[in-house]
Amino acid sequence: MRVARAIIGLTEAFERLPGIGPKSAQRLTYYLLHVPQPELDKLAIAISELKKNTKQCQICQNISEADPCDICGDQDRDKTIICVVEQPLNVNAMERGGQYSGVYHVLHGVIDPLHNIGPDELYIKKLLERVSNTTKEIIFALNPNMEGEATCLYLKRQIGNFKIKITRLAAGLPVGADIEYADEMTLNRAMEGRRDY
Ligand SMILES: [Zn+2]
Repeated sequence: MRVARAIIGLTEAFERLPGIGPKSAQRLTYYLLHVPQPELDKLAIAISELKKNTKQCQICQNISEADPCDICGDQDRDKTIICVVEQPLNVNAMERGGQYSGVYHVLHGVIDPLHNIGPDELYIKKLLERVSNTTKEIIFALNPNMEGEATCLYLKRQIGNFKIKITRLAAGLPVGADIEYADEMTLNRAMEGRRDY
């Protein structure tokens, strides 16, 4: 029996997404066959407008509806403290904690030699451009794994020349944890317990 081309096409598209294997891709595709057409149209529009209706903030590199984003444009946020995170999702997580009043810098990844991701593939230059003599503190809020560690070391070496206080999230986050999945309490504690790095 020949499988319909539309099914093969969508299954292959799902398979390219992170965390989706061939089995899950198939299951999702066949599931969608049972969804009413108007719902499918809505999904298709949402996907096609995802990038059209979002912007990357040219200051912090977070994804937002406006450039500069709401956080960078907010007069009440302390621009002298920059919290460096790996992904836009991490900003959402930190904001849910509700305690941090500085600004962010999203690297869009971490240094990962095994996958050929070096400093030039990340928004590290943009971070260094932002750092000035008005910057008081830079907080490394990267995941406590090997790649996060390597990235912190690299950043510290680059920023070291500026004589700025560098801190790192510490207590609260277990080794190997993902900031994206940490609850508010854990993140707040980690923020309180940050120390010189
Ligand atoms: Zn921004």
